[in-house]
Amino acid sequence: MSEKTHDVLLVGAGMVGAAAACLLARAGFSVAIIEAREPQPYDPSAEVGLRVSAFSPGAVEILAETGAWRQIESQRHCAYRRMRVEDRDESALLEFHAPEFGLERLGTIIENDLVQWSLWQSLQAMGGVEIICPDRLESLDYEGNELVVHLAGGSQLNGRLLIGADGANSRVRKMLGIEQQHWEYGQHGLVTVVQTEQVNPGVAWQRFMAGGPLAFLPLQDGTSSIVWSRPQAEARRLLELDEGSFLAELQEAAWTEGQAWPGVMRSCGPRASFPLTMRLSQRYSGPRTVLIGDAAHVVHPLAGQGVNLGLLDAAGLVEVLIDARRNQADVAGEKTLRKYERWRRSEVEIMARGIHGIRGLFTPESLAPIRKLGLGLVARSWTAKEAFIKRAAGKNRNAPALARGEALTDLLRPQAN
Ligand SMILES: Cc1cc2nc3c(=O)[nH]c(=O)nc-3n(C[C@H](O)[C@H](O)[C@H](O)COP(=O)(O)OP(=O)(O)OC[C@H]3O[C@@H](n4cnc5c(N)ncnc54)[C@H](O)[C@@H]3O)c2cc1C
Repeated sequence: MSEKTHDVLLVGAGMVGAAAACLLARAGFSVAIIEAREPQPYDPSAEVGLRVSAFSPGAVEILAETGAWRQIESQRHCAYRRMRVEDRDESALLEFHAPEFGLERLGTIIENDLVQWSLWQSLQAMGGVEIICPDRLESLDYEGNELVVHLAGGSQLNGRLLIGADGANSRVRKMLGIEQQHWEYGQHGLVTVVQTEQVNPGVAWQRFMAGGPLAFLPLQDGTSSIVWSRPQAEARRLLELDEGSFLAELQEAAWTEGQAWPGVMRSCGPRASFPLTMRLSQRYSGPRTVLIGDAAHVVHPLAGQGVNLGLLDAAGLVEVLIDARRNQADVAGEKTLRKYERWRRSEVEIMARGIHGIRGLFTPESLAPIRKLGLGLVARSWTAKEAFIKRAAGKNRNAPALARGEALTDLLRPQAN
């Protein structure tokens, strides 16, 4: 381990932390990244992984700038151009087609393991990054304008800025004493890969029902990755059913007379479930420290936004740091970090509270007429639909430049006064 003082110490090389490290190294910052778990090589001949995510067009632009996209693109992935959101009895319906909004696609479904492994390989190939794995952050001290990070393995690292990308139970956040607003939905997201009699026509389909939404996301081979949000005890019961009984219940939940798809369920892979919560941090920064990704916020997966928001944080932070360096400001100074915090926290809150509100519309207590009215208003308002899609795509006005398609090399160019 080097004795030098790094510009940035990053804790956590999940999808968000690893992407941030790649961008920072490409921007010329010296980075040390600490990760507790050794990443697993991605095996393209194995069954599709249980954890997949819908990556927005903006998130894909960011992944391209990390250098990982080329490898991801050469493996299994599925772009979708159509999204359908409906009520249990189809009385409320929203449809989105990418070209209507000037987009080539609404999103791309990719296995988390593939993204994680591709980012890890990019990191390893990159100069200016020291990777410390497996090891974990234990404690933190300040020495003048520097931080000293102590690791479980007994070594220590010096840096100017610490980025906490260490997930929902972030140790960095706890060490800073940052409070969170916390909503327990009492629900679990049950995930599995389902084969339907007719192949998925490349549509992301979501049905809202009492108890929680059911989503079918298209995979490259025509199967679908599902996320079925159910009350906790219900999710446990569904996990324990034999495959036939599980598929029968899934079919009953997804079935509508006369609807062509999803139709008949043929088979499914292994099943797992994850607790669903929303957590919003009161602050995203502390002395010489910032939070990104799930360390800062966790949202309900119904809008498939968790990792997308995290990648936007990473791109936004890099943009702010490049700007501070150009202006010869302290990149870990309070002014710089507050600028990042104000920007990303307000953007995340808009999305998170929107998702929370949509979820609320579809709880059993919510009245169907209100639900119909809400969805109907959005469906009829082009402006509301466009605003929603642009934000979900990571392409709204306040999105980081990298998500809107600017290249990192452009951000690094000296700017005329
Ligand atoms: C069912 C479900 C479906 C989802 N679907 C989508 C979707 O379609 N689209 C989407 O955008 N999002 C989705 N999400 C959310 C998404 O999975 C998360 O937002 C994302 O994985 C968070 O990434 P992260 O890198 O911030 O955190 P993590 O993936 O949690 O990574 C944190 C890393 O930090 C490391 N670490 C932790 N503590 C330490 C320490 N002390 N020292 C060193 N290392 C440490 C961990 O080992 C880990 O590698 C879904 C979530 C669920 C539950």
